[in-house]
Amino acid sequence: MPLLTTAPRGTQDVLPQNSYKWQFIEKTALDTARLFGFKEIRFPTFEHTELFNRSVGDTTDVVQKEMYTFEDKGNRSITLRPEGTAGTLRAVLQNGLLNDALPQKLCYLVSCFRYEKPQAGRLREFHQFGVEMLGSQSPSADVEVILLAKSIFDTLKIQNIDLHINSIGCPKCRSEYHKALISYFNSYKDQLCETCQSRLEKNPMRILDCKSPVCSKIAAGAPVVLDYLCEDCQTHFDKVQSLLKACGVSFSIDPHIVRGLDYYTKTVFEFVSQNIGAQGTVCGGGRYDGLIETLGGPSTPALGFGMGLERLLLLLEQTPEAYPPEKRCDLYIAPLGEEATAKAAQLAVGLRQEGFRCEYDLMGKSAKAQMKYANKLGAHFTLVLGDNELQTGKAALKNMDTGEAREVDLETGVLSALYDEGIAQTIHNITQDIEHLMKEER
Ligand code: ATP
Ligand code: MG
Repeated sequence: MPLLTTAPRGTQDVLPQNSYKWQFIEKTALDTARLFGFKEIRFPTFEHTELFNRSVGDTTDVVQKEMYTFEDKGNRSITLRPEGTAGTLRAVLQNGLLNDALPQKLCYLVSCFRYEKPQAGRLREFHQFGVEMLGSQSPSADVEVILLAKSIFDTLKIQNIDLHINSIGCPKCRSEYHKALISYFNSYKDQLCETCQSRLEKNPMRILDCKSPVCSKIAAGAPVVLDYLCEDCQTHFDKVQSLLKACGVSFSIDPHIVRGLDYYTKTVFEFVSQNIGAQGTVCGGGRYDGLIETLGGPSTPALGFGMGLERLLLLLEQTPEAYPPEKRCDLYIAPLGEEATAKAAQLAVGLRQEGFRCEYDLMGKSAKAQMKYANKLGAHFTLVLGDNELQTGKAALKNMDTGEAREVDLETGVLSALYDEGIAQTIHNITQDIEHLMKEER
């Protein structure tokens, strides 16, 4: 395939007929997060490689196999972000955001990069909506973050998505667990894949997350971390469960969830769908109480999740009615000649200020070709502007659905006719929106 017209493997274009779906889920995610008091943060696409080695963990698949790492022209090792937590925390620490009132509640929409084997729901460039809550050690913070993810699924009317939770403990209880794991895996050492053999002493929990069939089969019989929780972690986990129940959230405990990133502690969770094939985990997250300190910040409990937007979209594709239909063109003006085109432009300016989607001919098409084009756009109304209309100042506003036409005054009648017809505006009047926001701020 020619390189010039073929995108790199594992990347995707979002074409115009689909971009409104992306806008819809992104807006739903951000709006929902706002209801929970989360504010958006934006941070660079690339960071120093060291940041990911430290935070994601250098025995993880992400760091060992999947990162896009390169040397820049200044001989620095740079990595395209494989996830959003590290960059968020780096920005938080660099900008002193932990000095604000806590908890600090942040969310983001980012592209992420991982060199993986591309398949349905698994790309090399993918997109995440993520949230991070910093400063609270309370189990209610865990529940709040889970409620936020669930609320996004609910708003999008996604059904058949299951919440699985687990606790992977803290460094205190984990040292006992590590010993148990090492002794268990040692008896299968020769059968483990090479990567896992090297993980055995350093980070045996990683073996539980290995995707190789042999390793996962062995891992299925390994001791489970829930049997090793210290009192503090057990109490925390119990409380998370009772709070979830109190909020009417159903869940199951899956002692095999360990998550693919090293920084997690205590609660980990996944939202999994059976409907989109092997890559069914749409959202994964958990606590990472030790991470901020590892990165040189003050000891601060924290947690978050990452939601894969491509997988979310796959789910939504199964219920197309979940999308609001794409906004049609409200009015297509068909000018005939230069003077009429100028008039069309002038009319369009006013209509768009009011939030109506309005288009007119820019190609010098014939009247017939213009009507054909208006049909293709799915225009609600059309307005033909010829010499006669310019002279009389009146034109026929035609409803393309019913075929009915009504005469409108070009100077005063077009806007009120559209309002009359009850056409919803594409966007709110922008000036009004800004005024409203300013009032809210005050
Ligand atoms: P998986 O087990 O599927 O590899 P993960 O544990 O590596 O997922 P996380 O690092 O927790 O995933 O990322 C959070 C979410 O981001 C995942 O639940 C998934 O929805 C999405 N995601 C992760 N990797 C990819 C990818 N390569 N392509 C598309 N989405 C992805
Ligand atoms: Mg992965």
